[in-house]
Amino acid sequence: MQHHPLSDADPEVHNALKNEMNRQESDSLEMIASENFVNQAVLEAQGSVLTNKYAEGYPGNRYYAGCEYHDDVENLARERAKDIFGAEHVNVQPHAGSQANFAAYFSVLEKGDRVLGPVLAHGGHLTHGHPVNFSGHIFDFDTYAIDEETERFERDEIVEAAREHDPDLIVSGYSAYPREIPFDAFREAAEETDAVLMTDIAHVAGLVAAGIHENPFPDWDIVTTTTHKTLRGARGGMIMSREGLAEDIDRAVFPFSQGGPLMHQVAGKAVSLRLAQERDYREYQQQIVDNAQALAEGLQENGFRLVSGGTDVHLVLADMSSKDMTGKEAESLLEDAGIVVNKNMIPYDERSAKVTSGVRIGTPALTTRGMEESELRYVADLIGRAVNGETDRVREEVEDLLHEFPLYEDAENSY
Ligand SMILES: *Cc1c(COP(=O)(O)O)cnc(C)c1O
Repeated sequence: MQHHPLSDADPEVHNALKNEMNRQESDSLEMIASENFVNQAVLEAQGSVLTNKYAEGYPGNRYYAGCEYHDDVENLARERAKDIFGAEHVNVQPHAGSQANFAAYFSVLEKGDRVLGPVLAHGGHLTHGHPVNFSGHIFDFDTYAIDEETERFERDEIVEAAREHDPDLIVSGYSAYPREIPFDAFREAAEETDAVLMTDIAHVAGLVAAGIHENPFPDWDIVTTTTHKTLRGARGGMIMSREGLAEDIDRAVFPFSQGGPLMHQVAGKAVSLRLAQERDYREYQQQIVDNAQALAEGLQENGFRLVSGGTDVHLVLADMSSKDMTGKEAESLLEDAGIVVNKNMIPYDERSAKVTSGVRIGTPALTTRGMEESELRYVADLIGRAVNGETDRVREEVEDLLHEFPLYEDAENSY
C-alpha cells in the first residue's frame, strides 16, 4: 500500500493537528480537572493497525476469525486493571465513561427501576440521572444531597435518603467534588436497603490506582471509570465488578449496547495501565494531590472562597461570588490570560448551569508537565491577577512558565 504522510494526504487536517499540538504544548495552562496528557507510547498504540479489524465478542470467544493478537491486547488490559484495582472482573470495551455507565446500569436493572444518585448540581455526572441524559429517561432516580453547612456528602443524609427511597441501586462518584467519596456511608446505605452498590470513579481513578483515595473493592458490586482523566490513559471507559456479575456486565456491553470494540483504543488502555503499574506512578498521583492543596492555599491567600474549604483530591471548586463575578465571567477572563478552566455550579448555586457561581480547577495536566507545589502557588497568584483583569502580563508569564515545562519531545514535528 502506498504510504501517504498525513501532510500530503490531507494538509488541512494535518494543519489542524499541528495547531492543536502547539496549543497544548505552549499556549495555555491546562487546568480542566477531567483532562490530562498521555504518554507518547499511548498515542502510538492508539494510532496502530488494530483499528482495521472487527473483534466483536471477548478474548477466546469472538464472532470473527483472525483475532489472536486482539485477544492478546485485550487480555493484557484486563489483567492489568484487575491487578491495579483488585477487581475480580474487568470489561475494557466501553467506548467512553458514559457507555460504561449505560452498560453498568443495564447489567443489573430494568427500565423503570429505582436508582439513588447525587443531586446533579452537587457534583454528579449527566449519566447519574439528568433529565437530558438516557439515565434520567430510563430509570427512576431519587437523590441525596450535599450538606449545606459542611459542603460535603455526609453519612446521615445518605443513609436517610436511602431509607426513604429504597433504591435498587445506589450510585456515587462525582465530576466536581473536591473531597473523598465517603464509601463507608454508601456501604451502610446499601446494606440497609439491599441495593446494588455502584460507584463511578471516572475522576479519581488515578488516585485510587495509586492507593491515595480509598479503593471501593472488595466490597463494591460495580465500579465504572473513564481511563483518560487522573488515570492518564487513552480516552475510553471501563467496568470492573465482582465475579458473580461478569456475564451480566459483558452482555450489557456487547451485544446489548455496543458493536465492535475500538481495539486500537483498548491497546491504548492496555499501555496506560502498564504505565500505571510503574513505581513512579504513585509519586505522580501524590504530586497531583499535593499540587491541588498548594493551589487551594494560594487561591485562599488571594481571597477566593473554596467550596468545603479546600481539597483532598485533584481539583478545587472556587466560589466566584467571593470575587463578585460569575463562573462564566471568570472562565472567560482566565481563558484570555491563557489559563483554561471550566465554569461549574457550586452546591446550592442560585445561578443556572450556563452561568454558574463557580469554577472548577484541576492539577492533573500541569502535574504531568512536571510542575510542583511552588509552581502551583505561582499559578494561584496568576489566577488572582487574571480575574483582576491583568490579562496581557499574565498571558506572557503563562507562556514563560509553559516554556520551562515542555510536554512532548520533538513537539515541533509531531502531533
Ligand atoms: C467524565 C465522567 C463520565 C463520562 O465520561 P465520558 O468519557 O465523557 O463519557 C462519567 N462519570 C463521571 C463521574 C465523569 O466525571
